[in-house]
Amino acid sequence: MSKEQLYIFDTTLRDGAQTQGVDFSIDDKEKISSALDNLGVDYVEGGWPGANPTDTEFFNKDHNFKSTKLTAFGMTKKSEHSAENDPMLSSLINSKSTSVCLFGKSWDFQVDVALGISNEQNLMNISESTKHIVKSGKEFMFDAEHFFDGYKANPEYAMSCLKAAYDNGARWIVLCDTNGGTLPNEVTKIVREVIKHIPGENLGIHAHNDTENAVANSLAAVQAGVRQVQGTINGLGERCGNANLMSLIPSFFLKKDFSDKFELSIKRENLKKLNSMLKIIR
Ligand SMILES: [Zn+2]
Repeated sequence: MSKEQLYIFDTTLRDGAQTQGVDFSIDDKEKISSALDNLGVDYVEGGWPGANPTDTEFFNKDHNFKSTKLTAFGMTKKSEHSAENDPMLSSLINSKSTSVCLFGKSWDFQVDVALGISNEQNLMNISESTKHIVKSGKEFMFDAEHFFDGYKANPEYAMSCLKAAYDNGARWIVLCDTNGGTLPNEVTKIVREVIKHIPGENLGIHAHNDTENAVANSLAAVQAGVRQVQGTINGLGERCGNANLMSLIPSFFLKKDFSDKFELSIKRENLKKLNSMLKIIR
């Protein structure tokens, strides 16, 4: 039986960089991204081109990665202007990234309170941003911020945010547990609902660790059908951190429930490289 591909997405240089006391230099970013490329992760999220000089410089360089796709991070367009006239989207498109990941709201409460725009306007911002990036030829993924909390509050609206990106050509829809408060049984239940509308091969999981469940939630999401897993080296990240890829990657190789069913771009013999990965950010 042929195995299904499971994709690994590292966000140490973006979400991990939001850890208190962490400030990656351009050299740190080079070192960490090339170690991740050597390990064989599918995607490295390198930061926000245009947001600060270090990230802009990092995204102006040719990295010649062997396997990893350099991913630029940003947010969906503002309501005030078109996607074409959004300076941040332009800096992502003009950066030397292979793929672009934009975050956007998927919880109606956040759309109202944090953005102060209508639900329809938010959907429009997601769909127009998606079309614009897809047209540029870069691989596009949508980070659905606060997705699990949003789904619990208003499942129809949370789903319509995902569809606004998926129906317009997003390669990946990433389900985010932004506050880290969702439990594994809830992840299972909600992913099973989402998968009725969007195939698992287009879904990712981005779990925060506030209830110490980020790894468990990521494993539950994969078992329920998602095929991209996001996390960081040592679970670095703001507050209590992100899902720890240094625990997840060995689990995918060493636990039969996963190793019988999935294959990764990472080679099995590279597991021994994880030890040096742990040290790289100490
Ligand atoms: Zn995050």
